[in-house]
Amino acid sequence: MNNLGFACPTQAGNFIKINFYLFINLMSEKRLLEIQKIRHLTPTVFTICLERDDIKFKAGQHIGLGLNEYPYMREYSIYSGENDDYLEVLIKEVKDGTLTPKFKACSAGEKLIMDGPTGSFVVKPDSVKRDKFYFIATGTGISPFHCFIRSYPEMNYQLIHGVKFVEESIDRDEYAPDRYINCTTEDPKGDFRGRVGQYLAANPVDPDGLYYLCGSGKMIYEVNSILQNKGIAPHRIFWEIYF
Ligand SMILES: Cc1cc2nc3c(=O)[nH]c(=O)nc-3n(C[C@H](O)[C@H](O)[C@H](O)COP(=O)(O)OP(=O)(O)OC[C@H]3O[C@@H](n4cnc5c(N)ncnc54)[C@H](O)[C@@H]3O)c2cc1C
Repeated sequence: MNNLGFACPTQAGNFIKINFYLFINLMSEKRLLEIQKIRHLTPTVFTICLERDDIKFKAGQHIGLGLNEYPYMREYSIYSGENDDYLEVLIKEVKDGTLTPKFKACSAGEKLIMDGPTGSFVVKPDSVKRDKFYFIATGTGISPFHCFIRSYPEMNYQLIHGVKFVEESIDRDEYAPDRYINCTTEDPKGDFRGRVGQYLAANPVDPDGLYYLCGSGKMIYEVNSILQNKGIAPHRIFWEIYF
């Protein structure tokens, strides 16, 4: 991968090699946004609330975030709604991860580098009025669905959220109780004991619904095949893979 690049002539007649990824980084538009607030929701999950700064986005899109003078960026779905006057992301601290422990240690007043928003994991506004949405997430994969629901309060949805323990049901009181189901793999107090895939395998599915999946590739692979085996047409299934 490091060999991807091109040679660029200098005034002295020499050539310097520009790394492809560095080039893309230099070309994409970046801003510095101030952190307004950090909410620590569980020992490993937190939100970072950034100034909005007139940034326009479609619910479901993600942004890149980085630390000043640190040469990496990571993508995060936007958690706040299209009409909120701030930009919030929901982050899971990955043990020994490159950036998440550093993001977690940030404080209000510091600035983060942001690029984007980008992404096509969005809903069509006319579909919001017409369709029933089934949102299937694991962990922080709930983030784009939180954004959809804040942006389109009239949305007809069912949210199926996979976590280990009920305490990880982030901001649960923001969802109508009859629209939120948590599937807990390690806690008998959840609505369903097991993975989201097991919940879907054990329950009837709506052939006319639209299914949005977000989280780990492993979960998405499992759920996609369960839905298709149950007769859901592939064009009704959409996904965003985090890792
Ligand atoms: C489009 C897109 C949107 C994303 N949105 C979010 C979001 O809203 N919230 C969020 O928390 N993450 C999100 N991610 C993942 C995020 O970009 C980073 O990969 C993650 O935060 C880890 O960064 P890191 O630098 O700490 O770890 P790294 O050093 O980059 O990675 C360490 C290892 O952790 C694994 N890993 C990454 N995320 C997780 C996780 N959640 N649980 C367990 N292992 C993981 C990676 O596969 C890798 O093997 C998104 C990814 C994509 C592609």
